[in-house]
Amino acid sequence: MAQDWDAGRLDSDLEDAAFDTLAVRAGQRRTPEGEHGEGLFTTSSYVFRSAADAAARFAGEVPGNVYSRYTNPTVRTFEERIAALEGAEQAVATSTGMSAILSLVMSLCSAGDHVLVSRSVFGSTISLFEKYFKRFGIEVDYPALSDLKGWEAACKPNTKLLFVESPSNPLAELVDIAALAEIAHARGALLAVDNCFCTPALQQPLKLGADVVIHSATKYIDGQGRSMGGVVAGRRAQMEAVVGFLRTAGPTLSPFNAWIFLKGLETLRVRMQAHCAGAQQIAEWLEQQPGIERVYYSGLPSHPQHELAKRQQKGFGAVVSFEVKGDKAAAWRFIDATRMISITTNLGDTKTTIAHPATTSHGRLTPQERENAGIRDNLIRVAVGLEDIEDLKKDLALGLAAL
Ligand SMILES: *Cc1c(COP(=O)(O)O)cnc(C)c1O
Repeated sequence: MAQDWDAGRLDSDLEDAAFDTLAVRAGQRRTPEGEHGEGLFTTSSYVFRSAADAAARFAGEVPGNVYSRYTNPTVRTFEERIAALEGAEQAVATSTGMSAILSLVMSLCSAGDHVLVSRSVFGSTISLFEKYFKRFGIEVDYPALSDLKGWEAACKPNTKLLFVESPSNPLAELVDIAALAEIAHARGALLAVDNCFCTPALQQPLKLGADVVIHSATKYIDGQGRSMGGVVAGRRAQMEAVVGFLRTAGPTLSPFNAWIFLKGLETLRVRMQAHCAGAQQIAEWLEQQPGIERVYYSGLPSHPQHELAKRQQKGFGAVVSFEVKGDKAAAWRFIDATRMISITTNLGDTKTTIAHPATTSHGRLTPQERENAGIRDNLIRVAVGLEDIEDLKKDLALGLAAL
């Protein structure tokens, strides 16, 4: 027997394959050139064999590529690989994480619909709902993430979608996804989970009962801070609506970025394991330091949802947030005293990053919105990368000494 790959698809035997195998091989096609790596198709359009072939492909009678705003082989490989890792029927790639959320709401919601968004979501997500979706007649309310009774009480007859980020940024608050999915489904609503902080390596929301998963691929899926992208994954019926919006509106993923993300996915689980191990050590160490008021990390027994995190996630993630003793000035002194750790709001990078959420990622929120989200002025967020732990502690100790 020979390996027959002339037909293109390479993953047809992966039906029962485990996560690590899917991360490396799902979705791959091979051209007759015999390349081992995933092909990078930098083309905006595709040629047809004849006028009749073009007409048939445009009419959807013959499958095939027409234009890269619609489909691109590299992007499709990324979509199929993410779908395999999330356990989704279909995944749709987008230009950024924000355009994944935009595409989800534009394709599934209409004026007059009511959406519930957890209070503690990413700053731009709140702005997107508050400044834009509200203008187009979508009603939005913001229950507290972990308060299941609050979610139940906030549902209305026109509630179409529940949108959560679990764990949340930057405080690592969680919601019981299976329980929230039941609340949504009892009212005919869908549950969407922003799975950016866990990635499918640590949490698979669809398997817990959620209907849709979204990602900023910019973070851990890339893993090395190179490129921007996003993805929406779920059941085919909803994903076809998302595809329709993307093809028309255009925030599609570039093939180059899709190719970067494919490489990122291949090492995702081992990277996440190393990120989690480092974050655990940093969180435990910070909790013992006299200058620190409180550490937010679900891997700590002091975290109010430690047991839920153990049950729901395969790891606690890499984001460690903490309040220093003092005010905003103290937090800024801490940040400015570090020498190696990068002062940037990005995360999901091999390089450890440090940020002051109240004046950066959450700076556009009103003081009231920040208060609701629990973002205090003395809060610092560290996204632990892959450097040596002792070197990281040495750098953070400079911050502690500056308090
Ligand atoms: C970064 C981020 C986003 C937005 O993603 P972009 O790729 O920056 O557009 C959405 N949700 C979460 C949780 C994020 O961290």
